[in-house]
Amino acid sequence: MARYTDSVCKLCRREGMKLFLKGERCYKTKCAIDKRNYPPGMQGNTRRRRKVSDYGRQLREKQKARRVYGVYERQFRRYFQQAVKVKGLTGATLLQLLERRLDNTVFRLGFASSRAQARQLVTHGHIAVNGHKLDIASYSVQPGDVISVRENSRSKSYFKDRAESLAKHVPPQWLTLDAAAMSGTVVGLPERSDIDIPINEQLIVEYYSR
Ligand code: SF4
Repeated sequence: MARYTDSVCKLCRREGMKLFLKGERCYKTKCAIDKRNYPPGMQGNTRRRRKVSDYGRQLREKQKARRVYGVYERQFRRYFQQAVKVKGLTGATLLQLLERRLDNTVFRLGFASSRAQARQLVTHGHIAVNGHKLDIASYSVQPGDVISVRENSRSKSYFKDRAESLAKHVPPQWLTLDAAAMSGTVVGLPERSDIDIPINEQLIVEYYSR
């Protein structure tokens, strides 16, 4: 299946909120949602958002989560099926599984300004887990894993430019960061309170439980 190649800002406009898919640009005045907060393709008086059904709300919530983490439908359903098998709240477990993806962890550590950029760093072989190159973005990190920028990659201009913002970066509490060494450690599992994304995971559970 081809990856989504159209403007990711359209995805935010479709969901009616900032999904922070473009990194630093999302915090600037250029953000499309600040300028045109109506669904793409809508013009003039058709811009008003229609009343949505329960199913519509569940679907939108699922799409929102999928878009934030950049996961295909089939993968996302697989995460849900995995979450169902775990004792506890399915929705929170689902978000925890998504949060533990290697690309998300690289983003959370501040090595990249967006999850899409983090995925690229992983797939292009710039990231090591426990000292070994790992280019699988979906790898699920475990407590004790050490995620680092590979030795050879640290001298690249991208990482040199990143050093300043990395020094100020504060990771979530399930990660620790050694900015100077461009390395981070997974010290626990992400709790729901660590996940700062405005998603109502219960609606996603309802969507798949229909
Ligand atoms: Fe979404 Fe970022 Fe684009 Fe704004 S700039 S619409 S937050 S992807």
